[in-house]
Amino acid sequence: MTKIHNLGFPRIGAKRELKFALESYWQGQSSRDELKTLGQQLRQRHWQLQAGLDSVPVGDFAYYDQVLDMSFTLGNLPERVRDFHGDALDNYFRVARGRSADSANDADDCCAGVAAGEMTKWFDTNYHYIVPEFSAATEFKLDASRLLEQLGEAKAQGVTTKPVLIGPVTYLWLGKAKDDSDKLALLPKLLPVYAELLDTLAAEGVEWVQIDEPILVTELDAVWQNAFVTAYRQLADCPVKLLLATYFGQLAENRSLTANLPVAGLHVDAINGSDDVEPLIDQLPAGKVLSLGVINGRNIWKTDLNAVLDWLEPLAQQLGERLWLAPSCSLLHVPVDLDSEQKLDAEIKSWLAFAKQKLEELRQLSTALNQGRAAVKAELDANRAAIEARRLSARVNNPAIKAALAGITPQMAQRKSPYAQRAVKQVALLKLPKFPTTTIGSFPQTAEIRLARSQFKSGKLDEAGYKAAMRAEIARCVREQEALGLDVLVHGEAERNDMVEYFGEQLDGYAFSQSGWVQSYGSRCVKPPILFGDISRPRPMTIEWIGYAQSLTGKPMKGMLTGPVTILNWSFVRDDQPRSVTCKQLALAIREEVLDLESVGIGVIQIDEAALREGLPLRRSQWQAYLDWAVESFRITTGGVTDETQIHTHMCYSEFNDIIAAIADMDADAITIETSRSDMELLDAFEHFNYPNEIGPGVYDIHSPNIPSAQHIVALMSKAAECIPTERLWVNPDCGLKTRQWDEVIPALAQMVAAAKTLRATL
Ligand code: GLN
Ligand code: ZN
Repeated sequence: MTKIHNLGFPRIGAKRELKFALESYWQGQSSRDELKTLGQQLRQRHWQLQAGLDSVPVGDFAYYDQVLDMSFTLGNLPERVRDFHGDALDNYFRVARGRSADSANDADDCCAGVAAGEMTKWFDTNYHYIVPEFSAATEFKLDASRLLEQLGEAKAQGVTTKPVLIGPVTYLWLGKAKDDSDKLALLPKLLPVYAELLDTLAAEGVEWVQIDEPILVTELDAVWQNAFVTAYRQLADCPVKLLLATYFGQLAENRSLTANLPVAGLHVDAINGSDDVEPLIDQLPAGKVLSLGVINGRNIWKTDLNAVLDWLEPLAQQLGERLWLAPSCSLLHVPVDLDSEQKLDAEIKSWLAFAKQKLEELRQLSTALNQGRAAVKAELDANRAAIEARRLSARVNNPAIKAALAGITPQMAQRKSPYAQRAVKQVALLKLPKFPTTTIGSFPQTAEIRLARSQFKSGKLDEAGYKAAMRAEIARCVREQEALGLDVLVHGEAERNDMVEYFGEQLDGYAFSQSGWVQSYGSRCVKPPILFGDISRPRPMTIEWIGYAQSLTGKPMKGMLTGPVTILNWSFVRDDQPRSVTCKQLALAIREEVLDLESVGIGVIQIDEAALREGLPLRRSQWQAYLDWAVESFRITTGGVTDETQIHTHMCYSEFNDIIAAIADMDADAITIETSRSDMELLDAFEHFNYPNEIGPGVYDIHSPNIPSAQHIVALMSKAAECIPTERLWVNPDCGLKTRQWDEVIPALAQMVAAAKTLRATL
């Protein structure tokens, strides 16, 4: 009998119940008990949904983040919160979110301000975890209370439990040694705590424990590889069976190491690592369970069940009882329930599966393997029909777009002249001062803007009324920028809900869910648009707004677009063609928009690529291939304009060292980046590379309400001027201003403009 299980279930709730409960608790509008009750209800509901599985995950639920939960389980609290006397859950939120001193309602030392833990991306997903903090002195101490409580609840519910832990080696790898000590040196201190935890779970009658070690799909040096051997030898005597889980990619050169670790079972991602599976089976010691992740836990498409069965049936013959099936990874990365979608186009809906539907697919697969395909014939036939319909749909396949893609020439990705020649023409035309000032695009999204948008969506405000409201905002924004004396203006993006969704809504080939929320961090969720078909742009998307803005001013108005790589990386994208192909289709659509902007007289066009870096594959060996098509896509969007049209791009992060060559290869005339928090240090990468084009290093942090001083900005820019020639420097904030208030934006930008004037006079 092939067993089925799950690695983790989305905890946010089909209606984002956890989000709202957390936010209400944080705002003091509900009690801790109410929050805990809601948490318990969600866990119960989710186990209920998984009750058809042979075992359900326990401990995958977290109020904020599963890595932070693990830190608390291991007693690894940051030094600064150790002597907190209040409730443990509150202390947990202190680490997760930080707490400012003035919000403390208690003069007690323990309630003074505390910095939040650092947050970073969970592998190549859009989920963010709280980074464990280490030092050479770190000690661990087991606190199994959370797990035991959840285990008790699950047992009471009568489901077969499989506790889920982050494995010791991955746990260390995810963290950061604050004193630059060797974090791997903590392994001998950490392993006894894991052993004690496994003993504790065994005493509760647990048979299997899932221990996640996803770093096994990344490139590991010998020291880290050896750590696996050390760790799992030491845990081998524990009285539970370990299912070592890897996901998000291939084991590749770690395959033999992983196959031979002394654990009872191994889970691998058979979607992203399918090439690994057969060689792995050959290497797998007799008796070891192999769990294959055959349902994609990272996208929202139905699985082709018949094709998976064709592949699985011989493996099931070979492995017998040793074969288990699961989603490829935790379902944390997909929305909860397709059944909640009321408005989604019925045809597109028939091609999709969210978490609940994916578990049903899993059940059908196991029934087919265990009882023969005839036992689920109706389901398999329906699945085949849906897969075929999607494959053949005219809404998915547009021959004209396939032809356009085939017609991409190298010239299309090439500006007419090199930057140095373009720059001369742009200077002559734009007549900008030295240290020109600009902003990144958005201005405050005020309550009035949001109200107008929601009234328009609900039909309370007609299109004319909505447009008038947005035009009024744009006019205000232009007026304010002129009054401030900025050099290159923007229209302010009032009409945009989100920088990806706004474009997705206007492109053919996109669909939108109502409740397809996925947790990004804590209570924050994103609702990625669904890119299902060949992409085309039926009509211009931004010309009306930006043309209107330009009509209000004699200064250059910067057109504002989102780039193809960012649109791709922030969408659920199709799985029936390579991402590179989808990206180039997006690039062709954005290219048309760029040319239309140019044709109505917009001489400066910014194409945001905020998510270019986050699309980097997990393995460095695959980086270049990604960067090649990502950069080419960007260049396709810009390659059609004249030399006089100045192309900007913007990226809101600060690690450029390892991708600087690709950034330069994008050949934007100017790039604006985030630098203020790093004190301009990241300009080093640009200096060492001799980055040839213009740069606007962000001079103040827009995430903070603080108003920067002109003096500080002058100091930062003077530092920048040591790395980059002054004629290639721009002065701008770190990122868009949409989350700020006007009364913060005006004084901050006034300081920035004043700083630019000082710089012009002195440098
Ligand atoms: N143009 C966008 C804005 O200003 C850029 C946002 C971003 O980089 N994330 O809002
Ligand atoms: Zn940004």
